[in-house]
Amino acid sequence: MRKIGLHLSISGGIYKSLEKAKELKINALQIFLKNSNRWKAPQYTQEVIEKFKQLKRNYNDIAVFAHTGYLINLAGNEEILNKSINALRDEIERAQSLGIEFLVLHPGSHRGTGEKEGIIRIADSIDRVYEICSKNRVKLLLETTAGQGSSIGFRFEHLAEIIDRSANKSKLKICLDTCHIFASGYDITTEKSYEDTISQLKKIIGLNKLKLIHLNDSKRELGSNIDRHEHIGKGMIGLKGFRYILNDPQLFSIPVILETPKNDENSDLINLNSVRKIINK
Ligand code: ZN
Ligand code: MN
Ligand code: MN
Repeated sequence: MRKIGLHLSISGGIYKSLEKAKELKINALQIFLKNSNRWKAPQYTQEVIEKFKQLKRNYNDIAVFAHTGYLINLAGNEEILNKSINALRDEIERAQSLGIEFLVLHPGSHRGTGEKEGIIRIADSIDRVYEICSKNRVKLLLETTAGQGSSIGFRFEHLAEIIDRSANKSKLKICLDTCHIFASGYDITTEKSYEDTISQLKKIIGLNKLKLIHLNDSKRELGSNIDRHEHIGKGMIGLKGFRYILNDPQLFSIPVILETPKNDENSDLINLNSVRKIINK
């Protein structure tokens, strides 16, 4: 059974996301572990942890992924870096307490110090975090980025270098975001360009590292470096553009999460339907 699902809100309680996932009949779910725009959040109570784990056991067909908050920047300057390391440690511990194995992370933005230096800082920071939480089974999914601003991760080489430099290679996997790679110049909309992109991914990182696909259409054109998600089929990738990645047997075992706009209550179901239609063609 293909794992296809959504990023859902945790408002009203983190376990509500699992109830909602069940209602929507999806078998993959992504959530934030806390408010994604704040550094700090109250710790979970034991009751919340138990409730989440219980539901997760009951709905054990749902693959659950977590996504880190947006303030973390492991390539930032000293002040941001210390806060980020602490925040990432907290998120890893939250994921561990809920029994979530994979935590998506945006690698970081170098803010002028350059890609090389940024990559070094990210790898070193990840190692510092895992030094603090050494008894942890949570793995980080480094996400491909659109290359907006000074963000790192818009070339497969960036992610490969971070993993290569880290002493925690086995803890580092990747998440491929279709909107982001498209915006950063990797075309996937024709058979030829898709094959080329996927073979680069294989050669530079390896498919064994790929644990999650963020399936988003892109409002902006190929190589725009602008990160604007669009409904599936309504953007520059388009319904036809998604057929190669969605029907590639090499990727059937990789869960797919939609992070498409939520204009109204029907948006999610419409987007899920679009995906299913492409798969069944
Ligand atoms: Zn992300
Ligand atoms: Mn994403
Ligand atoms: Mn994005």
